[in-house]
Amino acid sequence: MPDLSERMKKKLPIPYTDFLPVQIGDNVGKWVDRRFHGHGIVEHISSSGDHIFTVKVGSPANVRFSTDTLRKFNKIEDEYGIGSLRFTRSGNVELIADSLDKAEKLKDEVEKIGFYVGGWGNTLWSISSCTAYLTCTTAVIDSPSLTKVLYDNFYRYFTGEEELPTKLKISVGGCPTSCGGLVADLVLVGHYGDAPSYDPERIGLCLPRKAEALDVAVPEIVNVCPVGAIDAFKKDDNTVGINIKREKCIACGRCKDVCDHIIFDPDKSGVAIMVGGKSSNTGSGPELARVLIPWVPVTLPAYGEIVAVVRKIIDIWKKNASDGERLGDYVRRIGLSNLQEAMHIPVTKWNRTGFGKSTFGIRQFQERGA
Ligand code: SF4
Ligand code: SF4
Repeated sequence: MPDLSERMKKKLPIPYTDFLPVQIGDNVGKWVDRRFHGHGIVEHISSSGDHIFTVKVGSPANVRFSTDTLRKFNKIEDEYGIGSLRFTRSGNVELIADSLDKAEKLKDEVEKIGFYVGGWGNTLWSISSCTAYLTCTTAVIDSPSLTKVLYDNFYRYFTGEEELPTKLKISVGGCPTSCGGLVADLVLVGHYGDAPSYDPERIGLCLPRKAEALDVAVPEIVNVCPVGAIDAFKKDDNTVGINIKREKCIACGRCKDVCDHIIFDPDKSGVAIMVGGKSSNTGSGPELARVLIPWVPVTLPAYGEIVAVVRKIIDIWKKNASDGERLGDYVRRIGLSNLQEAMHIPVTKWNRTGFGKSTFGIRQFQERGA
């Protein structure tokens, strides 16, 4: 470890190359070519004559490792690799060896401890997940467990045992805040599916005690609602009441975040399924994903309906896309409504908007229907 105390005292930038394994540090800026060995190993070729081999591993959902699992990864990398572990932005882990033989060994050992290797070429590149119930207070669905279920159902696309027209990225968000982002080919966003009610005995605990308080400040529960769906009013007994306007509510859950006595019906929790996001400049350029289906129920523990919808989307795309055509480019070519028709999805006012215009903004629809 280099002594950086003088640089830190002078507030100079940290020379990050000092921390790199020697095979990478010596070749910064010299990489001239690469070659794929299957779907999980890529060889990087340097003008210096060096070659390194990166092994890409699907990580646990939300990229959360126990220290025990990390020790296993360290042990494998120390034995066969160059001493490098990298956690990628899309939630995979990369180990590096200095020969193809050792990279194959890394792959074998990682698979032995239960992780998939793959994710390059015409494959499922990643399933990223937000933290949801692991640490977050606003989760509607358990996105890490849904992510695990998706990996278990679609790992053959990650390992490349089954190929796709081109890369596929999936992102799972536990609530409409969608920390996982909307720039994946398939985006699943948990939401409550309907406007909330509240516990009439206890809602007062989230409100000012006296009605006069409304003359000087707006209660927090009213303030947090992004669409003005909550009104506070003075009651005859000089306390404060609220009214939730169901027709305005977008079921975002922010009121529940500030008041435990807001109640959502757990049987209505579901996910919106969105298609066609991507961050790269290839094809038609960067895009946000658009709503394909506003609500699919969460049925634990197997998430059967959600898995079936994801499978159907992939099957239709696989069968009909041109070589190299990302899911979003395919949907734009055929039209979102044609994909909905092929999937027998009823078009409602909540998913009618076509491509080219953002449709994000999930509204409850169960009671009001199409
Ligand atoms: S998407 Fe929602 S549930 Fe997931 S981490 Fe962000 S705020 Fe929490
Ligand atoms: S769920 Fe969201 S939109 Fe609905 S009342 Fe609460 S804060 Fe407002």
